[in-house]
Amino acid sequence: MHKADIQLVEMSMDIMKYVIDRLSSKKHKIGKPKSEKELKALVGETITEKGIGGEFAFNLWKKHLMKANVSIDHPRHLAFVPASPTRAAIMFDLVTSASSIHGAYWMEGAGGIFCENEAMRWIVSLTGLPEGAFGVFTSGGTAANLSAMVTAREHWRENHIYQAEKGLIITSIGAHSSIKAMAKVIDVDVLLVDTEDKLLGPALQKTIASLEASQRKRLFAVVATGGTTNAGIIDDLLGIAEVCKKENLWFHVDAAYGGGALVANSVRHLFDGIEKADSITIDPHKWMFSPYDCGAVIYKNPDLARKAHAQEGSYLDIFKDESALGFNPSDYQIQLTRRVRGLPLWFSLAMHGTKRYKQAVERGLELAQIAGKLIEETPHVELVRAPSLSCVLYRRIGWKPEDYTHWTHENHLKGFALVTPTKWKTGNTFETVSRFCFINPDTTKKDIQMILNSMR
Ligand SMILES: *Cc1c(COP(=O)(O)O)cnc(C)c1O
Repeated sequence: MHKADIQLVEMSMDIMKYVIDRLSSKKHKIGKPKSEKELKALVGETITEKGIGGEFAFNLWKKHLMKANVSIDHPRHLAFVPASPTRAAIMFDLVTSASSIHGAYWMEGAGGIFCENEAMRWIVSLTGLPEGAFGVFTSGGTAANLSAMVTAREHWRENHIYQAEKGLIITSIGAHSSIKAMAKVIDVDVLLVDTEDKLLGPALQKTIASLEASQRKRLFAVVATGGTTNAGIIDDLLGIAEVCKKENLWFHVDAAYGGGALVANSVRHLFDGIEKADSITIDPHKWMFSPYDCGAVIYKNPDLARKAHAQEGSYLDIFKDESALGFNPSDYQIQLTRRVRGLPLWFSLAMHGTKRYKQAVERGLELAQIAGKLIEETPHVELVRAPSLSCVLYRRIGWKPEDYTHWTHENHLKGFALVTPTKWKTGNTFETVSRFCFINPDTTKKDIQMILNSMR
């Protein structure tokens, strides 16, 4: 064996010990960032001609670098959209890496893609989309939204006489930032309906009616949100679907955060109408307990996605050959070479069964209700609006924006909690408020209580 291999074998026990230790995230403090200069001073030169050795590098990681990261699955990490990958999925993420699978084409990755598709079939079944609908795992919600928007735009171009016009999509100000960002990538304009609350069918209809003829002919898609990132609000999917059908528009539902809640009986009805979507984004790395990164885009008619995304090249012809036939994930989204990033989700689903997923999501929803009640019972805080999905917006009575910022940093630096402020728009005013987003089923009522107490 090479010297380096011996070193790796010797280290593998250390690495497994580290992994197992990390899997009990509750033991660890929430990490905090350091400046690049501070980190450099701690670790010195790491890339050298001779190498610094695996053990030395790994120690630098454990001692200094890992501590400068926030473990996203800490039970008191309630900022942004947290995550809480299952231990099974994390372990299988290691297996995925070790298996060296090129996940672009069935010819090379049939076994892995088979597993991904098993998991995808379950996700598609949650949406209620008709027979024939299918999807593919992407690097995240942004890539999923982009893939869907490209498909919608190409479909529009193909069936439209206005070939040279710049496209236009409608969404609401509650939509995720990635919709606007990806609209820039594909060079289409975005019209925002001015509501951070639920986007309703009639409001959409009114917006369309108010368009000038030159705008109307450029309009090709509507993006509704299935659980806004800021407040967990689900748009009027049924009403929007009707308008899209009537106006012949592509109907995309961005459920990157909320999509996991499709499995929860207590809120499933809020998503009624999602089964009429042309495309849907769901992030398994948010509320389906997958490790980063794992998004998903689902199409009612996958053929349209293939037309938009399949890459051509003489070096790729072999994959299209009869004998290589099978599902080629690269034909349905923007990425060619790809990790079989749905594989960890497959293993975890196979191991635990879907009922455990239902229970874990219901727990996140329940935690939001518990937080809502605690906030109502606590004099120094009050709800901004009723909890929606697993998001809770609340204010600390009397606080100015800088008080929230200061409080966030203080809790973070202590390694105690990460809860960040956001803004909520009512009328024309933006108010700075505090926000919880629950994903991790291991968060407790006591955790919430402790965080509220820290606002005294
Ligand atoms: C998180 C989120 C996205 C972006 O997903 P990434 O995985 O971060 O790329 C898009 N839309 C919504 C509604 C989200 O919550």
